[in-house]
Amino acid sequence: MTDGQRGRAAVECGARLGQLLRRSENREAALPAPADMALIDGRVYTLDSTRPWAEAIAIRGGRIVGVGTTAEIHELCSTSTDVIDLQGQMVMPGFQDSHVHPPMGGVEMLRCDLSAGRSRQDYLETVGSYATSHPAADWILGGGWSMPAFPGGVPTAVDLDAIVGARPVFLPNRDHHSAWVSSRALELAGITSETPDPIDGRLERDAAGRPTGALHEGAMGLVERLLPPLCTDDYVEGLLAAQAYLHSLGITAWQDAWVTSSPGGNSFEAYMRLAGDGRLTARVIAALWWERGRGAEQVEGFLALRAQAAEADRFSATSVKIMQDGVCETFTAAMLTPYLDVHGHSTDNCGLSFVDPESLRDHVTLLDAEGFQVHVHAIGDRAVREALDAIEAAQVANGPSGLRHHVAHLQVVHPEDVSRFAGLGVVANFQPLWACADAQMMELTVPFLGPERAAMQYPIGSLVSRSVPVAFGSDWPVSTPDPFAELHVAVTRTAPAGARFGAVSPDGATGSPFLPDERIDLALAVRAFTLGSAYVNDLDGWTGSIEPGKRADLAVVDRNLFEVDDLDGGVAAARVTMTMVEGSVVFEHAEA
Ligand SMILES: [Zn+2]
Repeated sequence: MTDGQRGRAAVECGARLGQLLRRSENREAALPAPADMALIDGRVYTLDSTRPWAEAIAIRGGRIVGVGTTAEIHELCSTSTDVIDLQGQMVMPGFQDSHVHPPMGGVEMLRCDLSAGRSRQDYLETVGSYATSHPAADWILGGGWSMPAFPGGVPTAVDLDAIVGARPVFLPNRDHHSAWVSSRALELAGITSETPDPIDGRLERDAAGRPTGALHEGAMGLVERLLPPLCTDDYVEGLLAAQAYLHSLGITAWQDAWVTSSPGGNSFEAYMRLAGDGRLTARVIAALWWERGRGAEQVEGFLALRAQAAEADRFSATSVKIMQDGVCETFTAAMLTPYLDVHGHSTDNCGLSFVDPESLRDHVTLLDAEGFQVHVHAIGDRAVREALDAIEAAQVANGPSGLRHHVAHLQVVHPEDVSRFAGLGVVANFQPLWACADAQMMELTVPFLGPERAAMQYPIGSLVSRSVPVAFGSDWPVSTPDPFAELHVAVTRTAPAGARFGAVSPDGATGSPFLPDERIDLALAVRAFTLGSAYVNDLDGWTGSIEPGKRADLAVVDRNLFEVDDLDGGVAAARVTMTMVEGSVVFEHAEA
């Protein structure tokens, strides 16, 4: 809105306050202090069951002090109230992303960023122009490519060599489970035909056994250890870029699923620095990274970090992230039965459990006893089962802790395990964008799982109908952090069309719904992304809905999501026009 509109609204409001004051002269009780901000004439979706919709909100000191009709909220205003006329736009609680990697996403945005590309050719052009414009960079770093752009999902060093010559290149893909490297990078790392696969990873090779330039899982480390380390300043810069981007999508809080603290530079320190100097405008829960090569001895360090973060504003370190397996596309997700080969025959590969199940039970029991929430990455049905077993073991040993442990991704969930979540109180943390029949699903996943297991993927509807608490997140930079794209898939189980979501639907086709019984309605999907994520972030007492007493963490959306046809892409096309955290505007769409 323009200043003129704001001013006019304020004058009108002040006049009404005058009437109100005259009326109140006869009253005993003084009026409450006026609101310092009011949003009026909107469609306010509150997620408060006692009043699901309203028109206006009054805010004072960053808190919501009134929700009601525009006339009711006018009564809480004075001439000094900053009144914003929403002109019919929708207001909802700010989105909370329950699994995201902003430092990594931000750093990649500032480097050779491949996330907007769709094809091998796009990527090579981007790498080429980045190499030309950064002649002094020792390494070409960045990432964000997607597997379906390459035959068999696998890029090659030869392609990079043709563009960058003898410069070393290291580019993780979107999901960070594989990296694309140049021949010079392989050479610097001493990787040859003789190099064995590490136990937690795999080198892509040609028929003669020569590495071809794609490294999966632990094999990425062979090159990664040579990279110039990121310093805290890099993370600070990346975080600021990421925060601005996420705010522009209406996101006001998140759980960072990979926070580390190591000497020199670390993302924990970057968050602490931004929290300390007031530049952290989002609310952030850090899930501290469990190093799978280490054991219980690392918990002491987590306790120290948690205590340090307890002093910070808007930042806490109360969760620990354990990555239990890899991903289906590289056959590293831990499965109960083996993957199939290209001909549909069974192999002897059941994927990888990064932490052995017995140790996982011990670790989760210990973390639970120390008051940490546990955030487990589990993609395959065996990993999901191991995670649930570990949380169950913790409950048996420690009694109910109320710590809201969660399992993220939940790609393949065995039906017997679907019914365990509710009893254990485990939060199902989904990345709904992935639950559609895109190329990654149809070409790189379904054939290798077979029809029976392919039908057990992303059972959002099944878990919701069992009253399991569900939270939504993006896993950005793995895939877009745009909540509207994610809501679209949760509701339709089809890929959102259009250029904004190139990775999901390279051909622009939306296809038929993927496992349509697992669709949920829009109200439940919005809830999972607001109150549901606030629940897993332990922020639901203050945020996640629009109710008096809660913080004014809000997103203004250019259309009423409930009045558009989501099958037509109306939800996916929605845009945020303003984002507010604690009553402060942290993003505003530039005036047209
Ligand atoms: Zn992740």
